[in-house]
Amino acid sequence: MSFDAVLSAHPPERLAQRAECATAADVERALAGPAVDLDGFLALISPAAAPHLEDLAARAQAVTRERFGRVIQLYAPLYLSNECTNGCVYCGFNRANPVRRATLTPEQVDDEAGALWGEGFRNVLLVSGEAPRVVSPAYLEQVAGQLHRRFASVGIEVYPLDEGGYARLVAAGVDSLTVYQETYDPELYARVHPSGPKADYRWRLGAPARGAAAGMRRVGIGALLGLGPWRLEATAVALHALWLQRRYWETQVCVSFPRLRAAAGGIAPPHPVSDRDLVQLACALRLLLPDAGLVLSTREEPRFRDGLAPVCITHMSAGSRTEPGGYTHPEEAEGQFQVEDRRSPAEVSARLAGLGIEPVWKDWDAAFLDREVGASGGDGKPCASL
Ligand code: SF4
Repeated sequence: MSFDAVLSAHPPERLAQRAECATAADVERALAGPAVDLDGFLALISPAAAPHLEDLAARAQAVTRERFGRVIQLYAPLYLSNECTNGCVYCGFNRANPVRRATLTPEQVDDEAGALWGEGFRNVLLVSGEAPRVVSPAYLEQVAGQLHRRFASVGIEVYPLDEGGYARLVAAGVDSLTVYQETYDPELYARVHPSGPKADYRWRLGAPARGAAAGMRRVGIGALLGLGPWRLEATAVALHALWLQRRYWETQVCVSFPRLRAAAGGIAPPHPVSDRDLVQLACALRLLLPDAGLVLSTREEPRFRDGLAPVCITHMSAGSRTEPGGYTHPEEAEGQFQVEDRRSPAEVSARLAGLGIEPVWKDWDAAFLDREVGASGGDGKPCASL
């Protein structure tokens, strides 16, 4: 059954209604059981679970320690381009916004990569808007290949491709894919994506599965929290993660919790998500998905990140710039959204260590794979140009 069919058979709005109606007894049963299933998850995200946040966090922390230990992987986004043909109403890169636009040349990508390497990063996430004429699949293949020669892990967060397109990027050295559905509510999706190719809800919904089928080692999903009611979006994300895990068991599924932030020409969140809501959601997801990576970005404030990191987080960005060229020439283009945690990577790393967590810059090398992915250089050493 496709995930589209799963959503039709189990409408998230109906499931989320069960979460709204859960009782204290449902919550206690979910917290007491040996494992949390979808019914338990719905109880744990319910309003009735809000008074049990400390118990929920303690249980989530125990599961995280058991499955992952006391480690968090650090990564950095590398924005390739802020050109975009879409009209997403919440985004600073919206094509209607009169912001300074730029697309990095492969040489400029090398410069940015050099700056990140110097900060200690070995995991990079390539990010761009949807402008296939300038950020073409061939361009992505080229820059992924050049970064793969020096970085242990290269991920992408770009416009959806077909399975063949993802396979080409996997062959070039990309090992992870992130595609946020933004909202799983088709009607809301249509309202906030009024124009451009991103208006195709189903094409985007199928992208994580196409990436996994193409051989991505890790696939990340999420909803842009604040667009719709968070319990409804959380329920859909949970269904999506469970479906991906069952169907593509060789691929690690990661979930992110991006909260809608101020952006040039952007909108205020119609359904604000509080800190307590976000903690409840992250902890409930940890119990439903014990092996999933849970990702927390610099969209969140230092105080909040420092509080949630030791509880259930496995991946964090640090020192992020959201404009192309931001690590070497930050004044030349506009960023996608406002970064809240402006600490340097070294400061984030030191803070994690102070919290008893080992910050991990590299936990993977393409040499672990049987397949050949170009000139490896995956021994962690920088290439000559760096
Ligand atoms: S969210 Fe992505 S696709 Fe939409 S306008 Fe921003 S960069 Fe473009």
